[in-house]
Amino acid sequence: MTLDILAISPHPDDVELACGGTLARAVESGARVGLLHLTRGEAGTRGTVEERKSEAECAGRALGAESVEFLDCGDGALRTGAAEEDALIEVLRRLRPEMVLGPAASDRHPDHGRAHRLVEAACFYAGLAKRKVPGRGEPHRPAAVFHYMLHDTFEPRFVIDVTSSWNKKMAALACYQSQLYQSTGQSGGSRDEREPETKVSSPEYWLAVEGRARHYGLLIGAEFGEPFGSRLPLAVSDLMSVLPRGLR
Ligand SMILES: [Zn+2]
Repeated sequence: MTLDILAISPHPDDVELACGGTLARAVESGARVGLLHLTRGEAGTRGTVEERKSEAECAGRALGAESVEFLDCGDGALRTGAAEEDALIEVLRRLRPEMVLGPAASDRHPDHGRAHRLVEAACFYAGLAKRKVPGRGEPHRPAAVFHYMLHDTFEPRFVIDVTSSWNKKMAALACYQSQLYQSTGQSGGSRDEREPETKVSSPEYWLAVEGRARHYGLLIGAEFGEPFGSRLPLAVSDLMSVLPRGLR
């Protein structure tokens, strides 16, 4: 199995929060999408490793992902050494994505910036024939690495209209019952009372997720949008394809 897009997440739920709508829409368009979580969320305030693994698998199914995998780079002190690069290079050479989505260069959670550097390094080194790692995959370098937005904002290089796939993103986030506030009321209950509330488990955080998507959607004339950064300029072959449909 090979992929068109590999979305790499520092912790389970990051990638679905940041670009779940984009991934679901890409799947609807026929792209083969995979999710890779660099940690198992073992340092999280709420939920066990087993719960977070099954939640991540549920979220992957909700988005239509072909695969959901995990590495063990260390939640709360995400490691970026040669062993972690080797592990990520092995995944890249095996799944051979054309495009990789990862976190931005700096963010509130230090693991996110570390994950950014790990992703950038591994995507480059995966293409070097003389970089030997365990596994049989031939060298492979993704053609593009884009950055999704988590906590901190940045000036996006492009925004994807995710209005049509917003419900799938919500379905994916609903899988994270140990982490996120469940606006539909089907979860929480006794476990919400047992577990301490965190920033992302509050109803205000949920409103902020929707508010950000509405803000970036507004900028491109859509109801909901997900912003992305890119180190390089985008190659556009069809000028009309970048026309915002809802802006006049
Ligand atoms: Zn995170």
